[in-house]
Amino acid sequence: MVNFTISSYFENKIIQINFRLEGKVAIVTGGASGIGASTVHLFYEHGAKVVIADIQDNLGQSIATTLGKNACYIHCNVSNEEQIINLIDTTISKFGQLDIMYNNAGIMDTTFESILNTPKGDLERMLGVNLVGGFLGAKHAAKVMVPNKKGCILFTASSCTKIAGIASHSYAVSKYGIVGLTKNLAAELGLHGIRVNCISPFGVLTGSNIDEKKKEMFESVMGAVAEDIAKAALYLASDEGSYVSGMNLVVDGGYCVVNPTLLNVYGAKHG
Ligand code: NAD
Repeated sequence: MVNFTISSYFENKIIQINFRLEGKVAIVTGGASGIGASTVHLFYEHGAKVVIADIQDNLGQSIATTLGKNACYIHCNVSNEEQIINLIDTTISKFGQLDIMYNNAGIMDTTFESILNTPKGDLERMLGVNLVGGFLGAKHAAKVMVPNKKGCILFTASSCTKIAGIASHSYAVSKYGIVGLTKNLAAELGLHGIRVNCISPFGVLTGSNIDEKKKEMFESVMGAVAEDIAKAALYLASDEGSYVSGMNLVVDGGYCVVNPTLLNVYGAKHG
């Protein structure tokens, strides 16, 4: 006879809802601020052991200290392969495994220059962090995940991969690169039981784009908060996303599909 009670059924359901990452170890790059920091908190609340990787040491360390022994901070410039190797090695020695690698660290442009005035250096700088950083994170996480025949690799791309003209050329190229990398990795790593997905936010008020002039526009037109993106990462990282791979999940409140004129409306109203 199956040993089953109503209360144990509901207890299990509560555990499934509240501890969706129980027993998992996650790295979040860019975890000291914005979307990354929000994801660190949400993953932690759902039972994961979390490694915050960033270059903002004070911020990252203070989040880890607040969370306690199941979180830690590791300084890591994602463009530097040695530092990525150190990040993965230190995670394995501290927590014994790596289940989720969220390559989220990124930089944004504050101005959108014409191609006529865009220096080559802008493109190289953007690719160096946003694309090379994600590439290196995925490469070294995969070295640990392939032998284990499981794992989840995530990236933060951008809704500029869905709508043209909303970001600088350099930024758009770097994020299109992430979408391409996601799909290509899903093809290779899927053979080893590893899922690879990216998330494309639209506008979220965070450390990179906090700007008093834009604040009102962000709040009135976009209205997204970092946790909206973190929830998408939680879905993809958890077992609920177990049959999802190679996807660019756009998290934009429907903006890319139905509201691309909102910014024009805002512009007409506010000049
Ligand atoms: P944020 O500035 O709050 O966070 C980015 C974090 O990345 C920071 O903590 C920063 O220190 C870290 N970082 C930057 N360069 C790094 C490097 N070389 N090595 C390690 N860490 C580094 O900004 P955010 O908005 O939370 O950005 C997170 C991701 O979301 C980025 O990839 C960004 O391109 C993407 N994104 C953001 C928005 C938005 O509207 N905020 C929209 C689309 C995509």
